[in-house]
Amino acid sequence: MKRRLCMSDEEHAAYVRANHIVAGSHKVKDPCADCLQAFSIEMREAGLCDGRPGGMPGRRPASSPTLMQQWREASRRYRQRHREVAA
Ligand SMILES: [Zn+2]
Repeated sequence: MKRRLCMSDEEHAAYVRANHIVAGSHKVKDPCADCLQAFSIEMREAGLCDGRPGGMPGRRPASSPTLMQQWREASRRYRQRHREVAA
């Protein structure tokens, strides 16, 4: 799986592992399919998005986020906290 700009090497490695364990037959081919809109907007502003987010309105039913989307959201919050601490 290609590593996208919005993930660090560690994140990518963990994502590939999680994808393998969690997704089963619904394995994600592009990690950005799990990027939620808020995440990709933030990453784009930081120049860290080179993918196509899957969480855009209209692309998915407005059901609750998938496990892998929650995973991406968690890393977004983690980064946010990290930036706040660094600032
Ligand atoms: Zn992305």
